[in-house]
This record gives sequence, structure tokens and C-alpha cells, in this order.
Amino acid sequence: MAKIGFIGLGNMGLPMALNLQKAGHDVTGHDIFPAAVEAATSAGLRVDAAGAVHDADIIITMLPNGKLVLDAYQIILAKAKPGTLLIDSSTIDVASARTAHEQAAAAAMLSADAPVSGGVGGAAAGTLTFMVGGTNDVFAQAQPVLAAMGKKIVHCGGAGAGQAAKICNNMILGISMVAVGEAFVLAEKLGLSHQALYDVASTSSGQCWSLTSYCPVPGPVPASPANNDYKPGFAAALMLKDLKLSQEAASAAGASTALGSHATEIFQEFVSEGHGGTDFSGIINKIREKTA
Ligand code: NAD
Repeated sequence: MAKIGFIGLGNMGLPMALNLQKAGHDVTGHDIFPAAVEAATSAGLRVDAAGAVHDADIIITMLPNGKLVLDAYQIILAKAKPGTLLIDSSTIDVASARTAHEQAAAAAMLSADAPVSGGVGGAAAGTLTFMVGGTNDVFAQAQPVLAAMGKKIVHCGGAGAGQAAKICNNMILGISMVAVGEAFVLAEKLGLSHQALYDVASTSSGQCWSLTSYCPVPGPVPASPANNDYKPGFAAALMLKDLKLSQEAASAAGASTALGSHATEIFQEFVSEGHGGTDFSGIINKIREKTA
């Protein structure tokens, strides 16, 4: 079992760290937010900034953005032991992820980018999907540790490939939720019931996760956030963050992503109007508003 430092004990990080501890690892956490430290301590996690870095065999970061990850790496790279495996599970831009790998290599440390999907529920249940970028050797070392927090661990390729997979997937998700929302609003205008559209599309070529797991109208999928006043779920602000990352990457790589760009604008408007904390399937209400 490994000595693991876990940096960033927020909505995702704390339950992930607790699952590592439950699996028998020796985990020390760190967070700069006093309430996060308090929540971690009362959940039974040891919290100690220095201990999370100095003694660790593996250091996992779960932070809000690329700048914070690179800032944290400045401290980690100066203080951790050579040969330490650094796993960044935050969702960040591909360029920062690649910089983090380069800096780790220059400091004789091993590194993986390993963003997740599955949300807070998946973090608590230990059923996350990890998308991993890094060498084969690093993947072999990281895989059993990630398996304590997730049910599917995919090696996507070299440095930054995990982040690339994450933002490509979430660009599909953002676009498809807008598409499903538009289809339900059109159905309403045409006098077609929600259930009839669902029964047809969920077993036809329109089938997708946004329809069958997070159906944006109440009724057809009882567990979808639409049945709970669009409580997240997956907050629109996080959807917007991932769409923006996809557009930054598309523009740096010269890829044409017209629908990704349009979905970003639609979610930007929704979030700017104060709906950042609403589940992203609530975008249907924005579409309805524009239709009425
Ligand atoms: P969060 O804001 O709840 O947690 C982030 C934590 O990092 C906070 O507690 C903050 O205090 C801490 N932090 C910030 N800077 C720090 C530093 N320098 N040192 C130590 N701690 C620091 O965010 P979250 O929902 O846990 O998300 C974390 C990451 O996971 C993000 O990149 C997010 O995009 C990604 N993600 C989130 C979800 C989700 O459903 N919440 C799903 C998939 C991926």
C-alpha cells in the first residue's frame, strides 16, 4: 500500500481521498480552504500540508484549474522525493497538463494526467471513469491506485491525452444536451408528448446519454435532474468550463468545432444569467424561453 498525498479536498477530492484510505492506503490530505480541512478531518482523514508532499510516494491533485495545478506543482516539485508519481485528476487545459508533465520530468518525477467523469456521486461510490495520459510504465503504476477510486481506467495515450479525451467527451455532452433540449421544445410546439418523443428517440438513432440518463424534461427518466427542479447533477458552470477548455484546445490545434463553439455561447448566456448552479440539462429552459 502506498503513501499518498491528496491535494484539493473539495466536492470530488474528499470522497476520492476517503476511498483511497478505505482501500488501505496511507493518505494525507491538504486544502487551503478551512471548511474543506474541517470536513476532511471530521471524515477521518489526516490533513497536513507538509506531510502530503514530503513523504508521499504518490501525490494526487484535484484542483479547479490549470493555473492552480501549475502553482501547486511549483511547491510539489521543490519538496517531493525524486521518483514520486504525480497524478493530476483535475479537469484542466491540455497545454497546462503538458507543461505539468514536462516540469515533473525535469524534476525526475513521474507524471500522469488523469481527469475523471462520473461526478460527485461517482467519486463517493468509487465508480469514476479515469482517462489517463502518460507513459505505459506510469500507467501500470497508477492503475491499481486509480482502481480504488474508479471502475474504469482508460489509458488514452501520452502526456495530455487524458485531458484531451475528457474535453472531447464533454464537448459531445454539451452539444448533445442542447440538441435533446431543442428536440423536446420542437416536440412541444408540434403537439408531440414528451413521453412519445422519448419512447421513439431512446430506441432510435437519436439515442444518447443526454436523453436516456439526464433527460431534460421530467417524467421519462425518473432519476434525471429535471425531476428535481434541475438540482445538479452536473452544474451548468462546470459544463461551461469544459466547453471553454474544448474551444481553447480547438483553436490552438486548428480544429473546426462549429457546434462546440455554439454550445459554448448558449451555456455562457445561461450561466451569465445566474444559472451556473443549475444542472446543465436546465438549458432546455433557455431554449424554451427563446422559443416562446
Ligand atoms: P471544488 O471547488 O469543490 O474543490 C477544489 C478544492 O481545491 C477546494 O476545496 C479548494 O479549496 C482546493 N484548492 C484550491 N487551490 C488549492 C491549493 N493551491 N492547494 C490546496 N487546495 C486547493 O471542485 P470539485 O468539484 O472537487 O472539482 C475538482 C476538479 O474536478 C475540477 O477540475 C473539476 O472540473 C473536476 N471535476 C468535477 C466534477 C464535479 O462534478 N464536481 C466532475 C468531474 C470533474
